Amino acid sequence: MSQTILPGKGKQFRNCNRTACQSPDGVVFWNRATRAYYCRTCADLILQNCTDEEREQIFPDYNENIVVYKTMQRTIRHAKQIF
Ligand SMILES: [Zn+2]
Repeated sequence: MSQTILPGKGKQFRNCNRTACQSPDGVVFWNRATRAYYCRTCADLILQNCTDEEREQIFPDYNENIVVYKTMQRTIRHAKQIF
């Protein structure tokens, strides 16, 4: 059985680039090595055994991406309270 590839795979705010994931949640983590975007879970998975230097190479905007991610999560929570 082959995995379906979504049209938004690897695109910012669309779907995570990891084929097994392709989650639409918080896809803001830019991976310079693959030139694609990932969700937080996959970004952290990729980085779990990396040194700070490697992290800097693979996800150079990680800290900024975390800020965007957290803002998005807050906005979604807020929207759910309203609607
Ligand atoms: Zn993912």
